[in-house]
Amino acid sequence: MPSTAYESPWLSDEVRIFRKTVRQFIQEEFVPQQERWRQQHHADPDASTKAGRIGMLLPDVPQEYGGGGGTFAHAAVVLEELARAGVHFGFSIQSIVARYILTHGSEEQKRRWLPRMASGELPAAVAMTEPAAGSDLQGIKTVARREGDHYIINGTKTFITNALHAGLVCLAVKTDPKAAGPKGISLIVVETKELAGYRVGTPLEKVGRHGQDTCELFFDDARVPVANLLGPAEGKGFFQMMEQLPYERLSVAVAAVATAEQAVEITTEYVKTRTAFGKPLLEFQNTRMKLAECKTGAHVGRVFLDSCIERFMRGQLDPVTAAMAKYWLTDREFQIVDECVQLHGGYGYMNEYPIARMWADSRVQRIYAGTNEIMKEMIAWSL
Ligand SMILES: Cc1cc2nc3c(=O)[nH]c(=O)nc-3n(C[C@H](O)[C@H](O)[C@H](O)COP(=O)(O)OP(=O)(O)OC[C@H]3O[C@@H](n4cnc5c(N)ncnc54)[C@H](O)[C@@H]3O)c2cc1C
Repeated sequence: MPSTAYESPWLSDEVRIFRKTVRQFIQEEFVPQQERWRQQHHADPDASTKAGRIGMLLPDVPQEYGGGGGTFAHAAVVLEELARAGVHFGFSIQSIVARYILTHGSEEQKRRWLPRMASGELPAAVAMTEPAAGSDLQGIKTVARREGDHYIINGTKTFITNALHAGLVCLAVKTDPKAAGPKGISLIVVETKELAGYRVGTPLEKVGRHGQDTCELFFDDARVPVANLLGPAEGKGFFQMMEQLPYERLSVAVAAVATAEQAVEITTEYVKTRTAFGKPLLEFQNTRMKLAECKTGAHVGRVFLDSCIERFMRGQLDPVTAAMAKYWLTDREFQIVDECVQLHGGYGYMNEYPIARMWADSRVQRIYAGTNEIMKEMIAWSL
Protein backbone atom coordinates (compact mmCIF):
# COMPACT_ATOMS: atom_id res chain seq x y z
CA MET A 1 0.00 0.00 0.00
CA PRO A 2 1.74 3.20 -1.14
CA SER A 3 1.80 6.19 1.20
CA THR A 4 1.16 9.63 -0.24
CA ALA A 5 4.47 11.32 -1.00
CA TYR A 6 5.27 14.09 1.45
CA GLU A 7 7.40 17.06 0.44
CA SER A 8 8.81 19.64 2.80
CA PRO A 9 6.80 22.86 2.35
CA TRP A 10 9.95 25.01 2.35
CA LEU A 11 11.29 23.38 -0.83
CA SER A 12 11.08 25.64 -3.89
CA ASP A 13 12.05 24.76 -7.48
CA GLU A 14 15.21 26.79 -7.08
CA VAL A 15 16.17 24.91 -3.90
CA ARG A 16 15.46 21.59 -5.64
CA ILE A 17 17.88 22.52 -8.43
CA PHE A 18 20.47 23.54 -5.84
CA ARG A 19 20.00 20.14 -4.14
CA LYS A 20 20.72 18.37 -7.45
CA THR A 21 24.00 20.25 -7.88
CA VAL A 22 25.03 19.57 -4.29
CA ARG A 23 24.10 15.87 -4.50
CA GLN A 24 26.07 15.38 -7.68
CA PHE A 25 29.09 17.17 -6.24
CA ILE A 26 29.04 15.13 -3.02
CA GLN A 27 28.69 11.86 -4.96
CA GLU A 28 31.50 12.69 -7.38
CA GLU A 29 33.96 14.55 -5.16
CA PHE A 30 33.44 13.47 -1.55
CA VAL A 31 31.93 9.97 -1.48
CA PRO A 32 34.87 8.30 -3.30
CA GLN A 33 37.28 9.86 -0.76
CA GLN A 34 35.47 8.69 2.36
CA GLU A 35 37.54 5.59 3.10
CA ARG A 36 40.73 7.69 2.86
CA TRP A 37 39.27 10.52 4.98
CA ARG A 38 38.35 7.99 7.63
CA GLN A 39 41.84 6.48 7.60
CA GLN A 40 43.56 9.86 7.90
CA HIS A 41 40.95 11.18 10.40
CA HIS A 42 40.28 14.36 8.47
CA ALA A 43 38.97 15.73 5.18
CA ASP A 44 41.45 16.69 2.45
CA PRO A 45 42.77 20.25 2.83
CA ASP A 46 41.30 21.24 -0.55
CA ALA A 47 37.82 19.87 0.22
CA SER A 48 36.52 23.26 1.24
CA THR A 49 37.83 25.13 -1.83
CA LYS A 50 36.21 22.47 -4.03
CA ALA A 51 32.91 22.95 -2.19
CA GLY A 52 33.31 26.72 -2.40
CA ARG A 53 33.78 26.54 -6.18
CA ILE A 54 30.29 25.08 -6.72
CA GLY A 55 28.69 27.58 -4.33
CA MET A 56 27.96 25.02 -1.65
CA LEU A 57 29.45 27.01 1.25
CA LEU A 58 27.56 29.83 2.97
CA PRO A 59 24.47 29.42 0.75
CA ASP A 60 22.38 31.47 3.19
CA VAL A 61 24.77 34.43 3.41
CA PRO A 62 24.02 37.55 1.31
CA GLN A 63 25.76 37.73 -2.06
CA GLU A 64 27.40 41.04 -1.19
CA TYR A 65 29.56 39.07 1.27
CA GLY A 66 30.31 36.29 -1.22
CA GLY A 67 27.52 33.96 -0.07
CA GLY A 68 24.81 32.33 -2.15
CA GLY A 69 22.15 34.86 -1.24
CA GLY A 70 19.70 32.11 -0.32
CA THR A 71 17.86 31.14 2.85
CA PHE A 72 18.14 28.44 5.49
CA ALA A 73 16.38 26.15 2.99
CA HIS A 74 19.60 26.12 0.94
CA ALA A 75 21.68 25.30 4.01
CA ALA A 76 19.19 22.58 4.97
CA VAL A 77 19.50 20.74 1.67
CA VAL A 78 23.31 20.72 1.96
CA LEU A 79 23.03 19.32 5.50
CA GLU A 80 20.56 16.69 4.28
CA GLU A 81 22.67 15.65 1.31
CA LEU A 82 25.81 15.31 3.42
CA ALA A 83 23.91 13.28 6.04
CA ARG A 84 22.36 10.98 3.42
CA ALA A 85 25.75 10.36 1.84
CA GLY A 86 27.33 9.73 5.26
CA VAL A 87 29.89 12.48 4.64
CA HIS A 88 31.12 14.53 7.60
CA PHE A 89 32.50 17.74 6.27
CA GLY A 90 32.75 21.14 7.97
CA PHE A 91 29.80 22.73 6.17
CA SER A 92 27.77 23.26 9.30
CA ILE A 93 30.67 24.76 11.30
CA GLN A 94 31.50 27.08 8.40
CA SER A 95 27.87 28.28 8.37
CA ILE A 96 27.80 28.75 12.15
CA VAL A 97 30.94 30.90 12.18
CA ALA A 98 29.61 32.91 9.24
CA ARG A 99 26.45 33.54 11.17
CA TYR A 100 28.38 34.87 14.17
CA ILE A 101 30.27 37.24 11.89
CA LEU A 102 27.18 38.24 9.91
CA THR A 103 25.17 38.99 13.03
CA HIS A 104 27.78 40.47 15.34
CA GLY A 105 30.68 41.51 13.12
CA SER A 106 31.45 45.03 11.91
CA GLU A 107 31.10 45.84 8.22
CA GLU A 108 34.88 45.66 7.89
CA GLN A 109 34.99 42.22 9.54
CA LYS A 110 32.21 40.87 7.30
CA ARG A 111 34.03 42.03 4.16
CA ARG A 112 37.37 40.71 5.39
CA TRP A 113 36.28 37.17 6.30
CA LEU A 114 32.97 36.14 4.73
CA PRO A 115 33.97 36.11 1.02
CA ARG A 116 37.02 33.95 1.76
CA MET A 117 34.89 31.65 3.91
CA ALA A 118 32.40 31.30 1.05
CA SER A 119 35.15 30.41 -1.43
CA GLY A 120 36.52 27.82 1.02
CA GLU A 121 39.86 29.59 1.24
CA LEU A 122 39.24 30.21 4.93
CA PRO A 123 37.87 27.09 6.65
CA ALA A 124 36.55 27.89 10.11
CA ALA A 125 36.09 26.33 13.55
CA VAL A 126 34.14 27.27 16.67
CA ALA A 127 36.05 26.88 19.93
CA MET A 128 33.96 27.09 23.08
CA THR A 129 34.55 23.82 24.94
CA GLU A 130 37.50 23.41 27.31
CA PRO A 131 38.77 20.36 29.19
CA ALA A 132 36.99 21.54 32.36
CA ALA A 133 34.05 23.43 30.82
CA GLY A 134 31.61 21.97 28.30
CA SER A 135 27.98 22.28 29.34
CA ASP A 136 28.95 24.94 31.87
CA LEU A 137 30.35 27.47 29.40
CA GLN A 138 30.51 30.18 32.01
CA GLY A 139 33.36 28.20 33.56
CA ILE A 140 35.80 28.66 30.65
CA LYS A 141 39.35 29.60 31.63
CA THR A 142 40.94 30.73 28.36
CA VAL A 143 41.94 34.33 28.94
CA ALA A 144 42.46 37.22 26.52
CA ARG A 145 44.40 39.97 28.29
CA ARG A 146 44.48 43.33 26.56
CA GLU A 147 47.89 44.82 25.82
CA GLY A 148 47.72 47.92 23.62
CA ASP A 149 46.11 47.02 20.27
CA HIS A 150 46.31 43.27 20.92
CA TYR A 151 44.87 40.54 23.08
CA ILE A 152 47.34 38.07 24.54
CA ILE A 153 45.51 34.74 24.60
CA ASN A 154 46.31 31.80 26.87
CA GLY A 155 44.35 28.61 27.38
CA THR A 156 43.29 25.24 25.96
CA LYS A 157 40.20 24.24 24.00
CA THR A 158 39.11 20.68 23.35
CA PHE A 159 36.84 18.66 21.01
CA ILE A 160 37.12 21.32 18.29
CA THR A 161 35.67 20.10 14.99
CA ASN A 162 37.52 21.08 11.83
CA ALA A 163 40.41 22.61 13.75
CA LEU A 164 43.13 20.95 11.69
CA HIS A 165 42.75 23.15 8.61
CA ALA A 166 40.91 26.07 10.20
CA GLY A 167 42.22 29.45 9.09
CA LEU A 168 39.68 31.16 11.31
CA VAL A 169 38.65 30.21 14.84
CA CYS A 170 35.67 31.82 16.53
CA LEU A 171 37.01 31.64 20.07
CA ALA A 172 35.20 32.05 23.40
CA VAL A 173 37.47 33.68 25.97
CA LYS A 174 37.34 35.51 29.26
CA THR A 175 38.30 39.14 28.68
CA ASP A 176 37.46 39.89 32.29
CA PRO A 177 38.20 36.85 34.46
CA LYS A 178 36.94 38.69 37.56
CA ALA A 179 33.49 39.51 36.16
CA ALA A 180 30.65 37.45 37.61
CA GLY A 181 28.81 34.80 35.56
CA PRO A 182 28.66 35.34 31.84
CA LYS A 183 29.67 38.98 31.81
CA GLY A 184 33.41 38.51 31.35
CA ILE A 185 33.07 36.31 28.22
CA SER A 186 33.83 37.62 24.72
CA LEU A 187 34.11 36.13 21.24
CA ILE A 188 37.31 36.81 19.34
CA VAL A 189 37.92 35.74 15.75
CA VAL A 190 41.43 34.31 15.54
CA GLU A 191 43.23 34.26 12.18
CA THR A 192 45.47 31.25 12.64
CA LYS A 193 47.84 31.53 9.69
CA GLU A 194 51.42 31.80 10.98
CA LEU A 195 50.10 32.83 14.39
CA ALA A 196 52.86 32.41 16.97
CA GLY A 197 51.69 30.73 20.19
CA TYR A 198 48.84 28.85 18.45
CA ARG A 199 48.97 25.07 18.10
CA VAL A 200 46.52 22.37 16.99
CA GLY A 201 46.81 18.90 18.54
CA THR A 202 46.60 15.70 16.49
CA PRO A 203 43.02 14.58 15.73
CA LEU A 204 41.41 12.83 18.70
CA GLU A 205 40.41 9.15 18.40
CA LYS A 206 36.62 9.18 18.30
CA VAL A 207 34.03 6.40 18.33
CA GLY A 208 32.64 7.55 14.97
CA ARG A 209 32.85 10.41 12.47
CA HIS A 210 36.36 9.32 11.62
CA GLY A 211 36.47 11.32 8.39
CA GLN A 212 36.26 14.64 10.24
CA ASP A 213 38.91 15.92 12.62
CA THR A 214 38.22 16.88 16.23
CA CYS A 215 41.24 18.39 17.96
CA GLU A 216 42.60 20.26 20.94
CA LEU A 217 43.76 23.85 20.50
CA PHE A 218 46.53 25.44 22.54
CA PHE A 219 47.04 29.18 22.99
CA ASP A 220 50.31 30.24 24.55
CA ASP A 221 50.69 34.03 24.52
CA ALA A 222 49.06 34.19 21.07
CA ARG A 223 48.70 37.84 19.98
CA VAL A 224 45.45 38.72 18.22
CA PRO A 225 44.47 42.28 17.20
CA VAL A 226 41.79 43.92 19.34
CA ALA A 227 40.03 44.64 16.02
CA ASN A 228 39.12 40.91 15.90
CA LEU A 229 36.72 41.19 18.83
CA LEU A 230 33.16 40.35 17.71
CA GLY A 231 30.59 42.92 18.72
CA PRO A 232 30.70 46.50 19.93
CA ALA A 233 32.30 45.80 23.32
CA GLU A 234 33.85 43.12 25.50
CA GLY A 235 31.63 40.95 27.70
CA LYS A 236 28.95 40.18 25.08
CA GLY A 237 30.21 36.71 24.09
CA PHE A 238 27.93 34.56 26.23
CA PHE A 239 24.83 36.39 25.02
CA GLN A 240 26.05 36.18 21.40
CA MET A 241 26.46 32.41 21.79
CA MET A 242 23.01 31.99 23.33
CA GLU A 243 21.50 34.01 20.50
CA GLN A 244 23.14 31.92 17.77
CA LEU A 245 22.75 28.46 19.27
CA PRO A 246 19.24 27.90 17.77
CA TYR A 247 20.85 28.01 14.30
CA GLU A 248 23.39 25.36 15.29
CA ARG A 249 20.75 23.23 17.01
CA LEU A 250 18.43 23.40 14.04
CA SER A 251 21.31 22.36 11.76
CA VAL A 252 21.97 19.33 13.99
CA ALA A 253 18.25 18.49 13.86
CA VAL A 254 18.21 18.65 10.04
CA ALA A 255 21.04 16.12 9.83
CA ALA A 256 19.30 13.95 12.45
CA VAL A 257 16.09 13.61 10.44
CA ALA A 258 17.93 13.03 7.15
CA THR A 259 19.98 10.28 8.80
CA ALA A 260 16.89 8.63 10.31
CA GLU A 261 15.13 8.68 6.92
CA GLN A 262 18.19 7.24 5.21
CA ALA A 263 18.48 4.49 7.85
CA VAL A 264 14.86 3.45 7.23
CA GLU A 265 15.41 3.48 3.47
CA ILE A 266 18.54 1.35 3.42
CA THR A 267 17.18 -1.05 6.03
CA THR A 268 13.96 -1.52 4.06
CA GLU A 269 16.04 -2.50 1.04
CA TYR A 270 18.16 -4.83 3.16
CA VAL A 271 15.29 -6.75 4.74
CA LYS A 272 13.68 -7.25 1.34
CA THR A 273 16.75 -9.06 0.00
CA ARG A 274 18.16 -10.86 3.05
CA THR A 275 16.46 -14.16 3.74
CA ALA A 276 16.13 -16.36 6.82
CA PHE A 277 14.06 -19.51 7.31
CA GLY A 278 13.38 -19.47 3.59
CA LYS A 279 11.81 -16.02 3.30
CA PRO A 280 12.85 -12.36 3.18
CA LEU A 281 13.31 -10.75 6.63
CA LEU A 282 10.56 -8.29 5.77
CA GLU A 283 8.03 -11.10 5.94
CA PHE A 284 8.64 -11.60 9.68
CA GLN A 285 6.09 -9.70 11.69
CA ASN A 286 8.68 -8.28 14.08
CA THR A 287 10.68 -6.81 11.20
CA ARG A 288 7.56 -5.25 9.71
CA MET A 289 6.40 -3.79 13.05
CA LYS A 290 9.84 -2.39 13.91
CA LEU A 291 10.29 -0.80 10.50
CA ALA A 292 6.76 0.59 10.62
CA GLU A 293 7.65 2.24 13.95
CA CYS A 294 10.92 3.60 12.55
CA LYS A 295 9.23 4.98 9.44
CA THR A 296 6.55 6.65 11.55
CA GLY A 297 9.15 8.11 13.93
CA ALA A 298 11.16 9.54 11.04
CA HIS A 299 8.05 11.04 9.47
CA VAL A 300 6.78 12.61 12.70
CA GLY A 301 10.28 14.01 13.15
CA ARG A 302 10.27 15.36 9.60
CA VAL A 303 7.00 17.22 10.08
CA PHE A 304 8.17 18.82 13.35
CA LEU A 305 11.52 19.69 11.76
CA ASP A 306 9.81 21.28 8.78
CA SER A 307 7.73 23.43 11.10
CA CYS A 308 10.96 24.53 12.88
CA ILE A 309 12.65 25.31 9.55
CA GLU A 310 9.69 27.40 8.42
CA ARG A 311 9.63 29.23 11.74
CA PHE A 312 13.36 29.86 11.51
CA MET A 313 12.98 31.23 7.97
CA ARG A 314 10.32 33.62 9.28
CA GLY A 315 12.63 34.68 12.14
CA GLN A 316 10.33 33.03 14.66
CA LEU A 317 12.21 29.99 15.95
CA ASP A 318 12.63 30.56 19.68
CA PRO A 319 15.50 28.96 21.68
CA VAL A 320 13.14 26.61 23.55
CA THR A 321 11.64 25.12 20.39
CA ALA A 322 15.13 24.83 18.88
CA ALA A 323 16.18 22.93 22.02
CA MET A 324 13.14 20.63 21.61
CA ALA A 325 14.13 19.95 18.00
CA LYS A 326 17.75 19.24 18.89
CA TYR A 327 16.97 16.92 21.79
CA TRP A 328 13.95 15.09 20.45
CA LEU A 329 15.13 14.60 16.89
CA THR A 330 18.63 13.42 17.81
CA ASP A 331 17.15 10.99 20.36
CA ARG A 332 14.81 9.66 17.63
CA GLU A 333 17.69 9.50 15.17
CA PHE A 334 19.76 7.28 17.44
CA GLN A 335 16.79 5.12 18.42
CA ILE A 336 15.85 4.53 14.78
CA VAL A 337 19.40 3.89 13.63
CA ASP A 338 19.94 1.48 16.53
CA GLU A 339 16.78 -0.45 15.61
CA CYS A 340 17.96 -0.57 11.99
CA VAL A 341 21.32 -2.01 13.11
CA GLN A 342 19.38 -4.75 14.91
CA LEU A 343 17.40 -5.54 11.75
CA HIS A 344 20.69 -5.96 9.85
CA GLY A 345 21.86 -8.64 12.30
CA GLY A 346 25.64 -9.13 12.47
CA TYR A 347 26.17 -7.16 9.28
CA GLY A 348 24.82 -4.11 11.09
CA TYR A 349 27.88 -4.21 13.32
CA MET A 350 30.37 -4.31 10.44
CA ASN A 351 31.92 -0.99 9.51
CA GLU A 352 31.73 -1.76 5.82
CA TYR A 353 27.94 -1.47 6.11
CA PRO A 354 26.67 2.15 6.09
CA ILE A 355 24.20 1.41 8.90
CA ALA A 356 27.06 0.53 11.26
CA ARG A 357 28.84 3.81 10.53
CA MET A 358 25.56 5.73 10.91
CA TRP A 359 25.14 4.18 14.35
CA ALA A 360 28.61 5.23 15.54
CA ASP A 361 28.29 8.63 13.85
CA SER A 362 24.83 9.36 15.30
CA ARG A 363 25.72 8.87 18.92
CA VAL A 364 27.44 12.20 19.34
CA GLN A 365 24.46 14.14 18.01
CA ARG A 366 22.93 13.78 21.50
CA ILE A 367 26.08 15.20 23.09
CA TYR A 368 27.37 18.18 21.13
CA ALA A 369 25.75 21.54 20.39
CA GLY A 370 24.50 21.37 24.00
CA THR A 371 23.81 17.93 25.48
CA ASN A 372 20.22 16.68 25.36
CA GLU A 373 20.07 16.99 29.15
CA ILE A 374 20.91 20.68 28.86
CA MET A 375 18.23 20.99 26.15
CA LYS A 376 15.66 19.53 28.56
CA GLU A 377 16.81 21.96 31.26
CA MET A 378 16.21 24.82 28.82
CA ILE A 379 12.77 23.49 27.94
CA ALA A 380 11.97 23.05 31.64
CA TRP A 381 12.85 26.72 32.35
CA SER A 382 9.94 27.65 30.10
CA LEU A 383 7.41 25.62 32.10
C1 LIG B 1 32.76 14.89 18.23
C2 LIG B 1 32.60 16.15 19.00
C3 LIG B 1 32.69 17.36 18.34
C4 LIG B 1 32.59 18.57 19.05
N1 LIG B 1 32.78 19.76 18.40
C5 LIG B 1 32.87 20.90 19.12
C6 LIG B 1 33.25 22.12 18.49
O1 LIG B 1 33.46 22.19 17.26
N2 LIG B 1 33.38 23.23 19.26
C7 LIG B 1 33.16 23.20 20.61
O2 LIG B 1 33.30 24.24 21.25
N3 LIG B 1 32.78 22.06 21.23
C8 LIG B 1 32.65 20.90 20.53
N4 LIG B 1 32.31 19.73 21.15
C9 LIG B 1 32.09 19.73 22.60
C10 LIG B 1 30.65 19.50 23.01
O3 LIG B 1 29.85 20.60 22.72
C11 LIG B 1 30.68 19.13 24.51
O4 LIG B 1 31.26 17.84 24.62
C12 LIG B 1 29.30 19.18 25.15
O5 LIG B 1 28.83 20.48 25.23
C13 LIG B 1 29.31 18.57 26.57
O6 LIG B 1 30.34 19.10 27.36
P1 LIG B 1 31.31 18.10 28.13
O7 LIG B 1 31.86 17.12 27.16
O8 LIG B 1 32.29 18.91 28.91
O9 LIG B 1 30.38 17.30 29.13
P2 LIG B 1 29.91 17.76 30.60
O10 LIG B 1 29.47 19.17 30.55
O11 LIG B 1 30.98 17.39 31.55
O12 LIG B 1 28.64 16.84 30.82
C14 LIG B 1 28.74 15.48 31.26
C15 LIG B 1 27.33 14.96 31.52
O13 LIG B 1 26.71 15.74 32.55
C16 LIG B 1 25.48 16.25 32.09
N5 LIG B 1 25.21 17.57 32.65
C17 LIG B 1 26.05 18.63 32.73
N6 LIG B 1 25.43 19.68 33.28
C18 LIG B 1 24.15 19.28 33.54
C19 LIG B 1 23.00 19.92 34.08
N7 LIG B 1 23.01 21.18 34.46
N8 LIG B 1 21.87 19.18 34.22
C20 LIG B 1 21.83 17.89 33.82
N9 LIG B 1 22.88 17.25 33.28
C21 LIG B 1 24.02 17.93 33.15
C22 LIG B 1 25.63 16.33 30.56
O14 LIG B 1 24.38 16.37 29.92
C23 LIG B 1 26.42 15.08 30.27
O15 LIG B 1 25.54 13.99 30.21
C24 LIG B 1 32.36 18.52 20.45
C25 LIG B 1 32.23 17.29 21.10
C26 LIG B 1 32.36 16.12 20.40
C27 LIG B 1 32.28 14.82 21.16
